[in-house]
Amino acid sequence: MTKPADFRPPFRAADYVAAPSDPQDERIEVGILIVGAGPAGLACAIRLGQLLEGAPDIRERLGEVPVAVLDKGKQAGSHLLSGAVVNPRALRRLFKGRKRIEEMPFYGPVEHESVYFLTKNNALRIPAPPTMKNEGNYVASLSRLGRWLAEQAEEGGAMILPETAAEKLLVSDGRARGVRTGDKGRGRDGQPLGNFEPGADLVAKVTVLAEGTQGHLTGVALDRFGLAGENPQVWALGVKEVWKIKRPLDRVIHTMGWPLRPGANYREFGGSFIYPMGEDMLTLGMVVGLDYRDVELSVHDVLQELKTHPLVRKLLEGGERVEWGAKTIPEGGFLALPKQLHAPGLLICGDGAGLVNVPALKGIHYAIESGSLAAEAAFAALQRGQTPATPGALAVYDNALKQSFVWKDLYEVRNMRPAFGRGFFVGGALASAMTASKGRFPPRDLELERDADADLIRTDRAKSYPAPDGKLTFDKLSSVFASGNKTRDDQPNHIVIRREVPQDVAKLWERMCPAQVYEATETGVDVTPSNCVQCGAITAKGGRLTPPEGGSGPEYTQT
Ligand SMILES: Cc1cc2nc3c(=O)[nH]c(=O)nc-3n(C[C@H](O)[C@H](O)[C@H](O)COP(=O)(O)OP(=O)(O)OC[C@H]3O[C@@H](n4cnc5c(N)ncnc54)[C@H](O)[C@@H]3O)c2cc1C
Ligand code: SF4
Repeated sequence: MTKPADFRPPFRAADYVAAPSDPQDERIEVGILIVGAGPAGLACAIRLGQLLEGAPDIRERLGEVPVAVLDKGKQAGSHLLSGAVVNPRALRRLFKGRKRIEEMPFYGPVEHESVYFLTKNNALRIPAPPTMKNEGNYVASLSRLGRWLAEQAEEGGAMILPETAAEKLLVSDGRARGVRTGDKGRGRDGQPLGNFEPGADLVAKVTVLAEGTQGHLTGVALDRFGLAGENPQVWALGVKEVWKIKRPLDRVIHTMGWPLRPGANYREFGGSFIYPMGEDMLTLGMVVGLDYRDVELSVHDVLQELKTHPLVRKLLEGGERVEWGAKTIPEGGFLALPKQLHAPGLLICGDGAGLVNVPALKGIHYAIESGSLAAEAAFAALQRGQTPATPGALAVYDNALKQSFVWKDLYEVRNMRPAFGRGFFVGGALASAMTASKGRFPPRDLELERDADADLIRTDRAKSYPAPDGKLTFDKLSSVFASGNKTRDDQPNHIVIRREVPQDVAKLWERMCPAQVYEATETGVDVTPSNCVQCGAITAKGGRLTPPEGGSGPEYTQT
């Protein structure tokens, strides 16, 4: 049987590791370099600002730019997409005595919630499983929360560098030295154009990788420093839309069942979320595990199908779609964690490390907590007068994370994701037993299989996708437009895949990609990289996403 893993991309992690190459006086030197302005990276920058406030000597030692955060998005928040219902626990700790939850850009607390099991025409309300209860949590747009967190980080003294992709990990003498940023202004074949700007070496005492899902340099670092754990990471793809609506939604909704098929043979694990965003907006999305098998499955189209359900259609009636986006979620949880989250001069946090609670669909508070703990570990090493590059100097980070609620939470739900690989009903029954036993059942941990190892099948699934009407249901290209993506067409290709692949693999990529980047041809696949919204699904299913030119890709504002 065909599986995407048999057609590995021509990608070598080692090609993205280099020693600093700019002459010494041309290197940009910063104290602590954070890659990624998501909740993890920004929490790290904010916590560092707080700690340095009381330690002017250490701030001095860190130089002119003590803390820098770089992000490939057009501005902070441009590449952030989530549900999002946020557990405020980590934010409370981060801003203790400084800011109250009421001062943060939330749409409000979760007041009511409903969980439904859907069939094609009916919705059966079921009790919320304990992992999905959201009392005390708040609804947010992560893109908006990210912009606010970036302001807090800047107020604390961090320098935010948007439109900057970290392309290579700088390593010398066995320690991380920083990153090399990507070139800008190259043409499709790599030739420099009139506005060409070469990348630069950014060197630092500590490099914190907070790249989120499918972190490019995180993958490179796991390989370079031998940090990968026993199990492979697995992912889900989330596609979501933001709608202006006529009647306010008063509750958080989750659905299971239709349009996904329950049979174990299909391996369609996932569900939908529908969250209120104030009086006149809501967001809805579909999340599906990327270990699915059917070549014809398209999460974008499954979301379109979901909107035709009477329960959902009613909520959107008279409304208008205002934004669309897609992103993957690391789903391996505890079983897929790297065996170590630090290396000399390097720390890894957030989704890059895989800190997501899948049954609860939550990772933001773990990202914030891990970013804060990374800041504390880096600061402690500097305070002790240690060089953070000394082997073991940053080990305190792993220890702190192991003592935190993040570890405990992830441990308890560690076997839930692999259980659902056995089909919806068996998975559901196993998950209930795991919840009741607080993770003591099953006695032996289940195993994870790489998403790209799932054997492909082909059904006539695509027949059920509704035709786009431009009002309720949309095609992929108009959706890419709604993501704000304005990437120029002649950029170099940043997607590494084999072009000559069997029809099933080509069709799989064509259907899977929510942004219509791939087109199956007679001999393989054609690529339109400028459509890419950098969701990362291709890395899970047999290719490799690398960061495109800084500033390109989606420009999310409300996702
Ligand atoms: C559809 C969906 C729904 C979700 N729902 C929820 C929810 O309701 N509640 C919840 O708590 N969690 C939810 N999550 C998970 C949550 O969004 C993540 O756990 C969280 O965003 C992780 O934060 P992070 O900072 O690690 O990474 P991210 O939020 O992904 O941020 C990483 C940042 O790093 C940047 N970056 C990456 N690589 C580079 C590079 N090489 N160079 C420069 N910049 C780089 C990216 O542009 C991005 O801005 C959801 C996720 C998805 C996709
Ligand atoms: S090309 Fe890959 S990473 Fe880009 S949008 Fe499509 S599936 Fe996602």
